[in-house]
Amino acid sequence: MARILVSRRRPSGRMLQVLATEVSDGNLAIDEPTGVLSQRRGALRPGPWTWLSQVHGDRVVQVDGPGDGAGTEADAAVTARSDAVLSIQVADCAPVVLTAPEGLAVAHVGWRGLRAGVLERTSALLAQVAPGPQTAVVGPCIRACCYEFGDSDLDALCGQFGDEVRGCTDDGRPALDLPAAVRIALERCEVSEIEFDGACTGCDERYWSHRTGGSPERQALVAWIEGP
Ligand SMILES: [Zn+2]
Repeated sequence: MARILVSRRRPSGRMLQVLATEVSDGNLAIDEPTGVLSQRRGALRPGPWTWLSQVHGDRVVQVDGPGDGAGTEADAAVTARSDAVLSIQVADCAPVVLTAPEGLAVAHVGWRGLRAGVLERTSALLAQVAPGPQTAVVGPCIRACCYEFGDSDLDALCGQFGDEVRGCTDDGRPALDLPAAVRIALERCEVSEIEFDGACTGCDERYWSHRTGGSPERQALVAWIEGP
């Protein structure tokens, strides 16, 4: 069942809600048949969702109403509107929620998005749309235990984010520590508080994994602000 990662009152009294879905909530990949998808989405949070055609890039869309921008080719979305439901589909990449006092953003963050600066761009647009200190919540993603990584790509990421992103798989091979890279990128955006969900999509059976299971299926991270 979908887990509530955050349910927190904002300064205005409106509630911020963040859900992470699991295998038992069904496949939320955007190429699922429309009827099936809207049923699965409706069971989690009724009303239109903003979902993105994710391409591991750095484009961020601004959402000004429920369902706005659905299907846009982008990897992040930002809103200050109540009841605009923002979603990201993942199977190993990190789903990230950024919050501001009266706004929120979601981002799809894998190593290519990190290299491209998707978090920096998301944080910058959120600061425009909803000024104030930002915090972050990072949903279930692949962790170093399961994320063997080639030397040249790993060296490039270490060049950008430092040696802390160098990890080790359970069987001792070089790995990318994706949560560490996400944390470093967020800290550079002056995000003051970062909460990580501890689950690894590679070895936790509640989640699909593209890397370890070859899954075409996706779980979703869903976030919205509730209230007038
Ligand atoms: Zn793992």
